[in-house]
Amino acid sequence: MEAYNALHALMKGPLPSLFFCIGDPIVGNPTEHMVDKAFQDLAYSGRYLTCRVPKSDLASALWGLRALGFAGGNVTAPHKQEVLQYLDELSESALLCKAVNCITRTPDGSYYGDNTDGKGFLQSLADRAITVQNKKIVVLGSGGAASAIATELVLAKSGEVVLVNRTEERSLSIAKRLSGISQTKLVVEPWVGCYTIADDVDIVVQATSVGLFSPTSCVDVAFTGKNSSLIACDVVFNPVQTLFLQKAELAGCTIVDGLGMLVNQGALAVRQWTGSDPDRALMRRALEEAFAQR
Ligand code: NDP
Repeated sequence: MEAYNALHALMKGPLPSLFFCIGDPIVGNPTEHMVDKAFQDLAYSGRYLTCRVPKSDLASALWGLRALGFAGGNVTAPHKQEVLQYLDELSESALLCKAVNCITRTPDGSYYGDNTDGKGFLQSLADRAITVQNKKIVVLGSGGAASAIATELVLAKSGEVVLVNRTEERSLSIAKRLSGISQTKLVVEPWVGCYTIADDVDIVVQATSVGLFSPTSCVDVAFTGKNSSLIACDVVFNPVQTLFLQKAELAGCTIVDGLGMLVNQGALAVRQWTGSDPDRALMRRALEEAFAQR
C-alpha cells in the first residue's frame, strides 16, 4: 500500500475526499481521531472534520457540505432524525428506525443515509460468536440507540424482542413501526420501579443513556441469580466497564461492552466511504487513547 502524501495531493491532486461529523454539542466526540487513524492505516486520501452544527443551521449545513463536495460523514445528536429530509436515498435500516448516523455520497452525487448503530451492535455480538436468531432479547430504553438495535434484531430474525422503557409510548411506537417486518415477536413491558430480567431471557441490552460518563449510575434492574447463561450488553462506552456490566458479571452473565459497537459502527462507515475494511483493533485503541484525555 502506497503511503498517502498530503503535499503531493495538495500540489498535484487529486485533492483528498472530505468527510464530516455534525452534531451539537460535539466537543468530546472522539470519532475524528478514530477515523483519521483508520484512513492513515489504509493509506486513504481522506480528511475528516468535526463541526458543531446547531439545530437551526442543519438545512444550510447540509447544502453547504454538498456544495463543498463532502463525500459523506457522520451525524450525531440531535440531528439523527431531522437529517432524513435532506437526503436523497435511505437504507432499509434508516427507513425503519427513522434515523441516520452515516451519509455517503454516491457516484451520481446523491447523499445516501444509513444507520450503522444497530449493525455495529450486531457485529459486536458476532465478534463473540453470539447469534440472535430465535433468541429472546430484552432492550432497555427506546431512544435512538435502542430503536436502531431493535430494528436490526428484527431484520436478523430474533425470536422475541421485549422493549422496556421509562416512557412506554416510545416503546409502543417502535413496536408498531417494526411489527410485521419479520417473524420476530415484539413485546412492550412497563418499567415501573425495578425491572427484573426473567430467567428465560437470552440477551439483555442496556440501551438507555444511564451510566454515560457516570461510573456510579445504573439503570434500575435486577438479575435473578439464575441468569448464568444470560448475555448482558451495554451501549454506553465510557466508562467501558459500566456499573450495569459489573452487576451483570457478578450475577454470572457474559458481558459485551459498548466500545465494540462504537468501533463497529465506525468501521462500517469507513468501509462505505473507502471500499476497504479498516483495522478495528487500531480503531478501538484510538478511542481508548481519546477517552484517556477526558
Ligand atoms: P436518547 O436520548 O435517544 O434516548 C435515551 C434513552 O435513555 C431513553 O430511552 C430514555 O428513556 C432513557 N433514559 C434516560 N434516563 C433514564 C433513566 N434515569 N432511567 C431509565 N431510562 C432512562 O439517546 P440515544 O438512544 O441516542 O443514546 C443512548 C445511549 O447510547 C447514550 O449513552 C449514547 O452515548 C449511547 N450510544 C452508543 C453507541 C455506541 O456505538 N456504543 C451509538 C449510539 C448511542 P425515556 O424515553 O423515558 O426518556
